[in-house]
Amino acid sequence: MDIIKTFGGMIENMVPKNPMGARRLLLMGYRAQRLALSALAGKKLPPSKRYVARAVMDVIIRALAHPENAAMVSMFTPCEPLSVAGITPYSIETLSGYLSGTECEKVFLDHTAGEGIPETMCSFHRIFIGAADTGLMPKPKFMVYTNVACDGNMITFPYLSHKYGIPSYFIDVPYEKSEDAVQNVAKQLKEMSAFVGDMTGRPVTEDALREAVGRSARTVSNYINYLGYQKERRLPGDLTSEMYAVFMNHILLGTKESEKYSRMLLDDIKKAPINSGLRLLWLHLVPYMQPSVKKLLNFNGKAFITTCDLAYESMIPMDESRPYEAMARRMVYSCYNGNPKGRILQAINMAKRTGADGAVIFAHWGCKATIGAAQIIKKALENEGLPTLILDGDGCDPSNSSDGQIATRLGAFLEMLGGKSK
Ligand code: SF4
Repeated sequence: MDIIKTFGGMIENMVPKNPMGARRLLLMGYRAQRLALSALAGKKLPPSKRYVARAVMDVIIRALAHPENAAMVSMFTPCEPLSVAGITPYSIETLSGYLSGTECEKVFLDHTAGEGIPETMCSFHRIFIGAADTGLMPKPKFMVYTNVACDGNMITFPYLSHKYGIPSYFIDVPYEKSEDAVQNVAKQLKEMSAFVGDMTGRPVTEDALREAVGRSARTVSNYINYLGYQKERRLPGDLTSEMYAVFMNHILLGTKESEKYSRMLLDDIKKAPINSGLRLLWLHLVPYMQPSVKKLLNFNGKAFITTCDLAYESMIPMDESRPYEAMARRMVYSCYNGNPKGRILQAINMAKRTGADGAVIFAHWGCKATIGAAQIIKKALENEGLPTLILDGDGCDPSNSSDGQIATRLGAFLEMLGGKSK
């Protein structure tokens, strides 16, 4: 019997009649999974990757169990002010990813289709809106979001803020990268920190923020060092671990957990064996639920992902003595902000750093920013001698992708890279 499928089916049946009961059941399942992560599961993974699975699961459990102390954020929101105020931040992408991983996403997708939300919208947003509309997702205390990278945010956050009747703070990041833009965003982040203090009754002091940004700076430095070792060594891993890295380097950046994870990752890779397998630089989401991609890349020493650009997109040196400017600079100079040139330059640098043999751009269904730039990025990377594949699919709703086609295209790409490296 497929336990996850059966459990997901139970949640789906319960949602329309008893969404609160479905939430309690979901929480029970996640708590059981958390225990399993501590005890048995993930033995094939190194300590850092086992640790990150537990740390992210803890956040999801807290967000569902204590929504009165949680805030909904977009992935590129600097969360240091929230962690300083003791708030649990969570993102649409993470929650929807968990629901999809629990195989209960269909009830939410069907609900949004019935409400007239177009199927061309990204599935992460549709699943989340469905979960909120049906009452499965509890009302958080407040929201913070930004326009960087995701146009879906500009619909989902205002809609849910209105629906839940909760306050939100929007960080408007200018498209152009300049020091004026940094000062502009720093001012907004100062206001956002005051907003968080007002919402929680726990003021965000500049001293505490400096400490948090100091942790962020050390985390970034550890992660960049870790990537350097990828050129020769390989840590066994699965696709999900790569998406956890994205969460740690964004939503939890500035926390003790995130710094600990980056230190463990670095320690683990220093001890990992030398490996001559094919190295892939991944751009955009890693489709960690897609069976064909899992089969080809999970725990495979012959071909593996070294990192994905969502994990390293804002790895910019930070001056912790000026915490607002440091966080603002991450947003303004994020390779996802502005035109695709930034993503191309970062990808070229990271390909060199990690010794990538090829790159894969995952064109997630409904994500206009990545789909629109995919051909431009591919051409630029190939001009630099990096073979690049555009892989169409859906990172959150695997049933919306042709698994056979993905298997054929990715398999052929790996074969071609293998032939080249001989
Ligand atoms: S895949 Fe694209 S549209 Fe969907 S949440 Fe991510 S950035 Fe936004």
